[in-house]
Amino acid sequence: MSQNTANLDANWRDDALDLSLDYGMQTIAVRAGQHRTDEGEHAEPIFTTSSYVYESAADAAAHFDGGKTGNVYSRHTNPSVRTFERRLAALENGERAVATASGMGAILTMCLAYLKAGDHLLAANQLFGSSIGLFNNYMAKLGIEVSYVDCFDNDAWANAVQPNTKVMYCESPSNPLAQICDIKALSKIARDNEILLVVDNCFATPALQRPLELGADVVIHSATKYLDGQGRVLGGALVGSDALMQEAFAVVRTGGISMSPFNAWVFTKGLETLKLRMQAHCHNANQVAAFLDAHPQVSKVHFSGLTDHPAHALAQAQHHLKDSYGAIMGFEVKASADKDEKAAAWHVIDNTRMISITNNLGDAKTTITHPATTTHFRLTPEARAEAGVKDGLIRLSVGLEDADDIIKDLARGLDSL
Ligand SMILES: *Cc1c(COP(=O)(O)O)cnc(C)c1O
Repeated sequence: MSQNTANLDANWRDDALDLSLDYGMQTIAVRAGQHRTDEGEHAEPIFTTSSYVYESAADAAAHFDGGKTGNVYSRHTNPSVRTFERRLAALENGERAVATASGMGAILTMCLAYLKAGDHLLAANQLFGSSIGLFNNYMAKLGIEVSYVDCFDNDAWANAVQPNTKVMYCESPSNPLAQICDIKALSKIARDNEILLVVDNCFATPALQRPLELGADVVIHSATKYLDGQGRVLGGALVGSDALMQEAFAVVRTGGISMSPFNAWVFTKGLETLKLRMQAHCHNANQVAAFLDAHPQVSKVHFSGLTDHPAHALAQAQHHLKDSYGAIMGFEVKASADKDEKAAAWHVIDNTRMISITNNLGDAKTTITHPATTTHFRLTPEARAEAGVKDGLIRLSVGLEDADDIIKDLARGLDSL
């Protein structure tokens, strides 16, 4: 199908907000990217259409030969998806965003767009489990070399660069141990070696951190998490320069990794409250972390908001929202007289009454999971050890309930060990 839809952005009538007027981030979150139809609707509509009609045969031909830009097919472009892309790009301070069917769809798109056989992908050792699976099982199969480094060790990153390294990939904060990568330092290593730095910004979101401003080339999102924030739909996105997004867009529309218009609409509305929700998530998380840190049955809390965390100062410098370290944390439960570490962790999980036992995260509802037997179960024991996933580790995604209730729910299991 036509190549010209790649330039649709240039024709977009951003009716609701003139971005050249230098609006604040919260104004952008509420209003950017809206495309009003002639109906005069106030809220963003959902365009549930797979295809589009032309005025004539000549008009149709012009859409294909590059003479005219416009929608052709929703695998390529859709106005609801475009609204979400425009709003997210503005929030991340990127030139353009490309939406995908899921977060993994965005990571797969990144690989297919920027890597080929013989290239090397250098990744942080702490990543979302499926990202590791994608790299190890599928990119390796395509002849792409993959290796991992300690995400917190800048020298290790620099030393691991090879002549064929094309992408450096990290999450910050990371999953499941909420480690912080020094994005500015990594971007310097990447720039010096002509490597793309790709940052999965799922845990921080642009409400806390804008990696492109810190020197990253591409931002990845699982919109499934905080961008929706209420656990309803799957989606993902890439954000970056026009040139890099052009390559990603070509992969998405050819490979069919496109976002559904309904999901795009949910995410668009989610962005409006993102900062307010993230402030509340982070406020709760700080209280929960303090409780866990003081509990005798907890050996370690992985959360950069704690003042003795090695990346505390870095998180403060890198996150532009004050006192905000994200709301996802890992904590390690000690073995008790009659339970080993895994049994003790399961005891804590099984004694909750309110918190949801689910592997999803970034939800208004607090969620709890045991990574070693769920999200990271498919990894080899060596890969699990490399990712720091121990048997006593619990991952908690702190939601928007009352902090006291979240703490009480965790205390029930911890106090009875
Ligand atoms: C969930 C998640 C993904 C994958 O996103 P999906 O929408 O589930 O495909 C990628 N990275 C991180 C950090 C995640 O938490």
